[in-house]
Amino acid sequence: NGIESKERKLHFEVSPIEDISDFDNMPIGHFEHQHRAFLKIQDGCNQYCAYCQIPLARGPERSQIPAEVIKTARSLTETGHLELVLTGIHTGRYSFRKTNLSMLLSMLLEETDENVTFRISSIEITEVTDELLDLMAQNPRILPHLHIPIQAGSDETLARMKRPYTVEQFKKRVSEIRKKVPDISISTDVITGFVQESDEEFAQTVKNLEEIGFSFLHVFPYSRRKGTAADKMSGFIDAAVAKKRTHELLKLSDQLRQNDMKRFKTSEILLEGPENNHPDIMLGYTKQYHPAKVLHPVQTSGRIEVKILGIEDGVFICEEIQR
Ligand code: SF4
Repeated sequence: NGIESKERKLHFEVSPIEDISDFDNMPIGHFEHQHRAFLKIQDGCNQYCAYCQIPLARGPERSQIPAEVIKTARSLTETGHLELVLTGIHTGRYSFRKTNLSMLLSMLLEETDENVTFRISSIEITEVTDELLDLMAQNPRILPHLHIPIQAGSDETLARMKRPYTVEQFKKRVSEIRKKVPDISISTDVITGFVQESDEEFAQTVKNLEEIGFSFLHVFPYSRRKGTAADKMSGFIDAAVAKKRTHELLKLSDQLRQNDMKRFKTSEILLEGPENNHPDIMLGYTKQYHPAKVLHPVQTSGRIEVKILGIEDGVFICEEIQR
């Protein structure tokens, strides 16, 4: 049968157990009744950004064996999941012997059903390779959305955070990404009120976030973490100032989302279920990860093509396109 023929195609090397001894696999069957499922491929981080405790808490980078990732992916798709989100602490650094993230994605495309799509949960700008973008551009099964944490839009703040890029380098790569994958949406994480963040630095951040044109922002006020480099610095920002900056960025996020959403007239939605108390309205997400409401759909499960009627509070209002 199909599964057996796929089994025969698997020719990955088997890893010695010590390579993955501390890799805790994601339990299967955890995402019942949902079309989207998470597929953990990596854990740990070696980067030591100044504000982050994760390298201390989660240990060094390690990656799941490709054959194991594929086995889990197949189990998830066999139980009806249509979209798999590749997750990790530092997903872009997936590396198992000679297999990098793009190679793993190619294997997953090959070894899973045609109707299964893949999304990358989050990736650092320095790890978005041409190989990955080419794969994304050529293959509609890899969804055109990247969440790329910028954390700040000021070179001074980024240097104190020990982030490995400048704003100009980030911008340049984003424009290269958009050239290769024109329908992509790029969202990001930002920290407000990082140690010594001046009004000028924050103003730079606002200006650059606008210029880059992210599709939405996840905004986090800085919070001290024991054992990190930032915790030993001086010049902590007043909580009220950080709160004000957070508010400003949340407002900016709404505006940026609106701008990004305006690009689309039609879309494909993965349905998640009916709105509370409104069985006639189905909720879901577009390929670019914008939320959507579909009015009176005939099809109430899986993926549907929709016409976009409008945008209300950052949510597409859509109707199904009947084939
Ligand atoms: S912010 Fe991300 S890249 Fe930086 S240390 Fe934490 S987990 Fe690693």
